[in-house]
Amino acid sequence: MLRRALIVLPILLAACAESEPPKPAPEAPKPPEYQPLKVTLKPNHEFSPEITAEDYAQHIFTLSSDEYEGRDPGTLGERLTMNYLENELRRIGFLPAVGVDGPCKAFPCEHASFFQRVPMVSTTTDPATTLTIDVGGQKQTLAMGKEMVIGTRSGENTVTIDGSELVFVGYGVNAPEAEWNDYAGVDVKGKTVVVMVNDPGFLRQDETLFKGKAMTYYGRWTYKFEEAARQGAKAALIIHDTAPASYGWDVVVNSWGGAQHDLPKSEDPEPRLAAQGWLSLDAAKNLFTAAGLDFEAERQRADQRGFTASALSAQLSGTIQSTITNNASNNVVAILPGTEKPNESVLYSMHWDHLGKNEELTDDPIFNGAIDNATGVASALEIAAAFAASPEKPKRSVVLLFTTLEESGLLGSRYFVKHPAVPLDTMAGVINMDANPFVGRVRDFSVAGWDQNGLQDLLGDVLKAQNRVPSPESNPERGYYFRSDHFNFARAGVPALHAGAGDDHVAYGRAFVEEINRKYDEVAYHKPPDEFDPEWDYAGSMEDINVYYELGRRLANSGEWPTWREASEFRLTREASDESRQ
Ligand SMILES: [Zn+2]
Repeated sequence: MLRRALIVLPILLAACAESEPPKPAPEAPKPPEYQPLKVTLKPNHEFSPEITAEDYAQHIFTLSSDEYEGRDPGTLGERLTMNYLENELRRIGFLPAVGVDGPCKAFPCEHASFFQRVPMVSTTTDPATTLTIDVGGQKQTLAMGKEMVIGTRSGENTVTIDGSELVFVGYGVNAPEAEWNDYAGVDVKGKTVVVMVNDPGFLRQDETLFKGKAMTYYGRWTYKFEEAARQGAKAALIIHDTAPASYGWDVVVNSWGGAQHDLPKSEDPEPRLAAQGWLSLDAAKNLFTAAGLDFEAERQRADQRGFTASALSAQLSGTIQSTITNNASNNVVAILPGTEKPNESVLYSMHWDHLGKNEELTDDPIFNGAIDNATGVASALEIAAAFAASPEKPKRSVVLLFTTLEESGLLGSRYFVKHPAVPLDTMAGVINMDANPFVGRVRDFSVAGWDQNGLQDLLGDVLKAQNRVPSPESNPERGYYFRSDHFNFARAGVPALHAGAGDDHVAYGRAFVEEINRKYDEVAYHKPPDEFDPEWDYAGSMEDINVYYELGRRLANSGEWPTWREASEFRLTREASDESRQ
């Protein structure tokens, strides 16, 4: 309405120009100002079958409320979330997809549930745990949550480390295809490795090493522990540093306090360390200094080809007491069976879990996880409603996978990929939604793991309707392609896309978006302030959800099988099952 008034006014002025003295030319009409889309929540909200900001906000508000206690697996927060999802999925009209006695052959499936039980072992380390480092008789005490964090995945209530030799192994990378092995010529059996986060090439941004600034899987903390265990180490300590880790020490401390969840060994037979944790940067520097080494020089050395591990002439000791419970959590799996090709599918993945609460934080103990990842769950429910209400139902099945234990190392999706409710070989693609930001309307759509597979091309087509383009993620050093559930599908060969709101605001440009993201990372990411905010602008979120929906709809209605790019590390795995897609 405002725009029209501006146009009408100059015409009126022109009409009466003859009888009046000449006036200065009217000012050019201003471009319309950017209109954010705000939502005011109302009591007794009624959900609509369309994708609306009001529905979206309502889902996020409920799931991230204090009542849900941060949605920690195995707690009251899980029970409330399971209830909510089951009720919503039934209301929307999606069917349970988990066969009670083995995978369903067809849908609707007589004995099926929405819940896939995921067994887990929960380990809570005594917060009073200390470790001692002895460097030539000089002892340093490290306290849990201050100079270090430590835990065990061994399933043992008591783990004793008694004078385990410390060895600095640089980035701790063993990558035969890159002819790089930080463990070459060193025996770490029974020892404790001290390792840097991120991967070679990061420090000097050397593009010839491990994609330079961009992070590869070798840079992830999960990889560091996996490799150290394969090498036979007793324990591993990662040196924290904010830039290469991409998050602060407080995020590490928050993530390692409270119960740590694992799959039982029967589900995950890979070797495990007796103890694993992180050292604060200061603690690491003290250790190197006491050992007579220059930390900066060692770090530079680790970033160069030809690095060799060095003993720190120091020993680690300590007793780690833990409370261990055998427990279970749940993935939630729902399906809208395809009308023509029900055995082929498109899968949306999004984790429902978050970090729970920490009673030691007296101000605000609850990690509400509003953005991470009530947004992804809420997006999926909106998309599901749109699919269920569309007059033309999709030809391929549409599957929703709400995963558990994503925050514990992508365990729920790992379990699903091992026990899929629908076949992976005829899954055309996975669309992952995790921590969708509120940055307003943007010109682009940011793709993690740029140019991995053909889903990116399909995304490009879908974005045209909104005058948007796919763009490479702005922080490839953070390794987002390895940090959410789609990664387990990629490892199993299923083309997977992890993409979301872009970086270039339609009215305020890049600096504006950068500032919102920076603030979120600093203040809210994996912290209690990740809460529902009544000031959020939903204009961009609505566009993004429509993109996710349209992408899934097109893939579900096409006979297309997106493929991995020639250079992708996941291509060969998929090609091994090519025959099942002919
Ligand atoms: Zn997340």
